[in-house]
Amino acid sequence: MSSALILDRDGVLLAQETGKYITRLPDVHFEIGALEAVVKLSKEYDHTVVITNQACINKGLTTLKEVERIHGWISDAVRRRNGHIDAFYVCPHRPEENCPCRKPKNGLLLTAMEEFDIDPTKSVVVGDSNRDLEMALSLQFPFVLLKSGEGQETLDHIDLSRRMYGFSVFDTLFDFAYKLG
Ligand SMILES: [Mg+2]
Repeated sequence: MSSALILDRDGVLLAQETGKYITRLPDVHFEIGALEAVVKLSKEYDHTVVITNQACINKGLTTLKEVERIHGWISDAVRRRNGHIDAFYVCPHRPEENCPCRKPKNGLLLTAMEEFDIDPTKSVVVGDSNRDLEMALSLQFPFVLLKSGEGQETLDHIDLSRRMYGFSVFDTLFDFAYKLG
């Protein structure tokens, strides 16, 4: 079985203005240090995958094609620096569609586990929201909460039982990659 780095996209890899969707390639900016971080981390795990909720697709604010274009651009940037992202898993649904793939549900993580034969004990989920945390815990993945994106707010409001479960906290993906702090 293989090890995997499983990343949330917005607030982890990409900088996101609070409450705003990233709907077009010109709006794509990496979080500070995130590109360097994902390049480094992708060499330490067998696979690197991104799992992202993008309800903006089914809300009609963007298209799957444009989202795939964004992901192609991210992959190219990582590859040019000799890193790799193996796959992007996208949930396009709105919350009220009750799909099995929108985080905190774990449908996309299950798909990734099957496709890449991922062993949770050798892997990690990195995110900035409660949805990421719940998805990770539901399948016994270690979890890293970043304070970037909505992470600080997540940390301020986190359920006490989740605090007791124990997860690591870092300021940014860069800090996690270099084990700072
Ligand atoms: Mg996020």
